[in-house]
Amino acid sequence: MQTQILGLLAPLMALSFAATFAVLWKAGRLRRHVLGYAIAYLLSALGFLFTHLLPADTFYVFHTTQVFYSLASVVMLASVCERAGQRLHLWSMAVIYLISALVLALAVHLSSDVAPRLVIVNIGYGVMFAMGVTTLLTARRRTLIDMGIIAIIAYQALDFLARPTVSLLFERSIPAEVYRDSIYYSLIGLALGVKGVSLALVLIGASIAEWTTELRESSERDALTGLRNRGSFEQVMRSLLTRAQIEGRSLSLVVADIDHFKQVNDIWGHQAGDQAISGFGELIGNMVRGCDTAGRIGGEEFCIAVWNCDNEPAHRLAERIRLAFAGLKHSGLNDDIRLTASFGVATAHKGETYEQLFARADEALYRAKSGGRNCVENAEERRRKEVSSDPVPELIDLERVAVNR
Ligand code: GH3
Ligand code: MG
Ligand code: MG
Repeated sequence: MQTQILGLLAPLMALSFAATFAVLWKAGRLRRHVLGYAIAYLLSALGFLFTHLLPADTFYVFHTTQVFYSLASVVMLASVCERAGQRLHLWSMAVIYLISALVLALAVHLSSDVAPRLVIVNIGYGVMFAMGVTTLLTARRRTLIDMGIIAIIAYQALDFLARPTVSLLFERSIPAEVYRDSIYYSLIGLALGVKGVSLALVLIGASIAEWTTELRESSERDALTGLRNRGSFEQVMRSLLTRAQIEGRSLSLVVADIDHFKQVNDIWGHQAGDQAISGFGELIGNMVRGCDTAGRIGGEEFCIAVWNCDNEPAHRLAERIRLAFAGLKHSGLNDDIRLTASFGVATAHKGETYEQLFARADEALYRAKSGGRNCVENAEERRRKEVSSDPVPELIDLERVAVNR
């Protein structure tokens, strides 16, 4: 009776981990690999239950449990690989399973001794976990949590490959009828408990870390455009200013504001206005380099921190964005309508604060607005005189559009 109750510990523990991962996945809206952990623990709970409840001397018990443990191993390995951005080679897993299932069938047919069957199935799992480790090692990212997961999967591989052979050196043969009374059976409970708990704890930690990263990132993003919001942009800009001073690099700031935007809302509605803002955000996001930072700092106002960039190339970037935006179609507006935006550019002076730099870029933007809009103005005096303004497309008279609509 005592053995019966103790034997239920492993499936119950696996079930509680399955439930924990399912809750983490649902509540944190985490990616599907976390659901994969839940499914893997559920499958191993079923495997444990069958191992414990089915009569040990029936021939199908090994095949049944092997199916559940193999599925649990593959789902777990595929999930941790997906988390690391890698794909587990499922065909190789299927081949390993088939080979070990066939050899197991042969062993069951030839002898009633459980020992060879244990070695065969465990080697199968060991090879699967070893392949999981090699796949994980090809991932480029290697955080502390990534390394913890790799170490635990490698430990599982070693345990599967070595433990059965070592413990069977002492307990040479195990007749099927006394399998549950064997030293091996007691040891496997302990080994599976340690492996299951250590893997679950690391994966729970990893999932919570993913959840907090997700929360932090979404609190820094503007929901409409996916760019940084004002607070997060300012934070990045301040740290870039400090870095630029320390490393002696240039940092330029571009401020942009869509022209006559109130009329867009008035004529086509707020939703169409939102689509135009989102289109401008997407355009900016696509036109800046990976090292630049773009943010939506107000309704239809955007900022770009152009890293390691002098005033002239930053001015040219603003021009390119201005021209691209002036040619952009907007799904919520009439087909022939193009919007425009005005830009202000400034490059950080030595010791300048974010507020001072922003004020100069904003002042340049104000000049662009009062100078007729759809143009780029530069806060650097010398640069302003040198830059000859490109021919700009004719301004769209939104009031006329409204009347003719
Ligand atoms: P200007 O050329 O001088 O910039 O003229 P403007 O009409 O664009 O003036 P301003 O920049 O002051 O107006 C911004 C307008 O943007 C006011 C507000 O109705 C609208 N707006 C602000 N946030 C949003 C938003 O999230 N969605 C939409 N659709 N409109 C917004
Ligand atoms: Mg505006
Ligand atoms: Mg504005």
